[in-house]
Amino acid sequence: MGMFHVKQKRPKGRTKPYADRGISRVPCLRCGKPSSWQWRCCALGGKYFGMCDDCDVKLNGLLMRFFGIDKSVIKRYKKKMKGDKHGKSKDH
Ligand SMILES: [Zn+2]
Repeated sequence: MGMFHVKQKRPKGRTKPYADRGISRVPCLRCGKPSSWQWRCCALGGKYFGMCDDCDVKLNGLLMRFFGIDKSVIKRYKKKMKGDKHGKSKDH
């Protein structure tokens, strides 16, 4: 069961960080959309991978849960990210 039957693709990534302007040409590691962020993954040789806005928000949500950080912090963060993306951000 489990791990041994899962075919993992081995994404290439880069050993050096992507330039800010170049990151949009890099497909998101998770969904293939143009990336806005990069993420350094230790489990994949410490390489850099692209990540789009949506997946970045999701990953942050996962990490927050992993670290046991309060849900309200995640909520606020997601709200903020959504606001920024659509240019409707409101200052509290
Ligand atoms: Zn994505």
